Amino acid sequence: MNLIDTHVHYNSKDLNNLNDEIININKNNNIDKIINVGLNYDISKEAISISLNNNKFYSTIGLHQLNEGSVDILKYLIDNCEISKVVAIGETGIDTNKNIDIQIKKFIYSIKLANELKLPVIIHSNTTKDSLIYANKLCLEIIKRYIPKYGFVFHSFQPDLDILNEILNLGGFVSVEPMILKSNAKKSLEVVRNIDINNLLIETDYPYLSNNEIDDLICVFNKVCALKGMDEYSMENNLNNNAKRLFYKLK
Ligand SMILES: [Zn+2]
Repeated sequence: MNLIDTHVHYNSKDLNNLNDEIININKNNNIDKIINVGLNYDISKEAISISLNNNKFYSTIGLHQLNEGSVDILKYLIDNCEISKVVAIGETGIDTNKNIDIQIKKFIYSIKLANELKLPVIIHSNTTKDSLIYANKLCLEIIKRYIPKYGFVFHSFQPDLDILNEILNLGGFVSVEPMILKSNAKKSLEVVRNIDINNLLIETDYPYLSNNEIDDLICVFNKVCALKGMDEYSMENNLNNNAKRLFYKLK
């Protein structure tokens, strides 16, 4: 197989043996490309350098909405690094875990930056239990107002068929992760059943939502094949084309 994992965090501080992990990916025959997502200035900078030294790795530049700092500082990376393998801005968005006002500002600024750089936006939208604010809705409102001109994906989508329809109407993508393998994932399975096959991506969000990236990505892929009733070959082509359409700098 030649799968693309559209969302991982290889150089997060939760992994100890980055070099071993990278070697493992480089020699694996099932994973063709990986998008290593930035969470702040330092992680984005390191992700860029990993991508320049390893064929399969691509990177993003982003300030995760739960991290401190300003989006402005990311511009320094753009001006001073080789960014040929930077495929998106993000992740950014809304998490009801923390102060929303600051997150909204960072999100809007990130969309503007993405538009300036002609890159898509990776969106993190998470509504925590008992929150009065619905992150998916708020993210959509911001997207409608500030329009990410080069596309967007709701990564690790919190399932909601109405929101899904709005995302699809705006030409957006949704990506699903190993949560769809859990027995209580009924709503996420509905999302996969209902989504237009041309707007679907897969990811692991390793190491946060997965502890074995390669195995989990294959399981998610197989699950999606089964839910859509498609053979592996067509599904692989389809998902890879989707990833390359949104993240158009993937080679
Ligand atoms: Zn992530």
